[in-house]
Amino acid sequence: MPDQVKPLLIGGDWIADTGEVIPSVDPATGRINHEVCAASARHVAAAVEAAREAAQASDWRDMLPHRRARLLAGIADRIEARSEVFARAQMLDNGKVLAECRAQALAASAVFRYYAGVCETLGSEVNPARGSYLSMTVYEPYDVVAAITPWNSPLTMEAQKVAPAIAAGNAVILKPSEVTPSAALLLGQAALDAGLPPGILNVLPGTGAVAGDALVRHPGVRFVSFTGGTQSGRRVAAIAAEKLMAVALELGGKSPHIVFADADVEAAAAAVADGIFEGTGQSCVAGSRLFVQRAVYAHVLALIEARARALRPAPPGAEGARLGPLASFAHRERVERMVDIARSEGGRIVTGGARPDDACLSEGAYYLPTVIDGLDNSATVCRQEIFGPVLCALPFDDEDDLVRQANDSAYGLAAGIWTADYRRAWRLARRLEAGTVWINTYKQLSIGAPFGGFKDSGIGREKGIGGVRLYQQAKSVYWGL
Ligand code: NAD
Repeated sequence: MPDQVKPLLIGGDWIADTGEVIPSVDPATGRINHEVCAASARHVAAAVEAAREAAQASDWRDMLPHRRARLLAGIADRIEARSEVFARAQMLDNGKVLAECRAQALAASAVFRYYAGVCETLGSEVNPARGSYLSMTVYEPYDVVAAITPWNSPLTMEAQKVAPAIAAGNAVILKPSEVTPSAALLLGQAALDAGLPPGILNVLPGTGAVAGDALVRHPGVRFVSFTGGTQSGRRVAAIAAEKLMAVALELGGKSPHIVFADADVEAAAAAVADGIFEGTGQSCVAGSRLFVQRAVYAHVLALIEARARALRPAPPGAEGARLGPLASFAHRERVERMVDIARSEGGRIVTGGARPDDACLSEGAYYLPTVIDGLDNSATVCRQEIFGPVLCALPFDDEDDLVRQANDSAYGLAAGIWTADYRRAWRLARRLEAGTVWINTYKQLSIGAPFGGFKDSGIGREKGIGGVRLYQQAKSVYWGL
């Protein structure tokens, strides 16, 4: 892949004839890392054609599962071997600290390895007969699927879509976020190096309004796996409804993190702080609404305040850095606007609520870890996703009060519960409206467990063995006997 303006990957060829480019901007310094070609509707059409041809070629369509698994494992090997390059590419695009980027590069490799295993072991089914016939259910790919990803964790999000879609027998058109186009291009190269047939993975950096929209609308794209904001997800779903196309939508969150008075409050406070400040709060499962039982509210808030104050922003590549900048300057402005709204609605800024004043950080999109209290669950910052290092603390009285408040949200992505009472933990885990519930832990994630949202947090479940079925259509075949 040439180094200057990074080209698109279509049908195994690197294409640089776009005219339009997207800058990859380092949010830690404001400097342009490099430029990337931006796909237009014409490139989308070319990619769909290349993908369809590759998906229907007999060398792919009839490829035996163990051979497909070998290709997936080969991609895993290449990501692992180049994990430092992948990690640094993500860090330069979105400012996530290097330690987390490194962990995510290895996690991306592990996702391909996991789906290599699933690919080899998934079977078809023989259904119980109700007459003199044999009935089987087999699973067919959609052929051409689109994967559209956000900027907060492209390394893992892109692996989570591309690996199962390929394992399922599809060709994929990956459109990364315009903020983070670089990791997807490296993935495209890794796939080619591993011997994936040209056209099975196409990579089209570009804007949502042009490339994303054209992809979703294209009649040749039969399934879209989208991760991003709820507003964009709704637009994708509206087009999909017109096309009668299936979609998977992984959207935003406003997850409640709950601490009961009987919990190990030190451990809970540490997890609450990590659960919101890790990734500078730019995580769909960030525990952004903290509910603490009134008897320990002041104590837990003081513990979290101390942790927030100790967490200093630092350049993402610096030794020991734990809190990098926000992913873009425009995003920092959005976070600042939300904190201003909290102030205007009567919120008290316990700590943070400003940019750091360290001279060495002045060029970057940094923001201090922020804790707000004095609001109730109807406040704008408790209802809308901020996607930054901003925690809103709220007291509760008893279990019913807690469930009422925690579930009073448009979102339903995740929830965390800290309590010593296992019966209560189980009751709550079942009552909370969330696709993932953590008990006495937070942000623990496994590629083996289905992941997705209730309510406005999305439709469908990625990951797990079902992650492959998401990208397939069931077909029942009857043989007369
Ligand atoms: P976004 O919705 O602005 O963009 C996401 C992707 O969609 C980008 O690639 C963008 O170019 C594309 N896009 C935007 N509008 C489109 C359209 N009309 N048609 C097709 N594509 C379009 O989101 P973002 O700002 O990049 O990411 C942050 C959001 O993602 C947050 O809301 C966060 O909660 C969510 N997110 C969810 C999960 C999850 O798994 N549930 C994971 C990570 C991030």
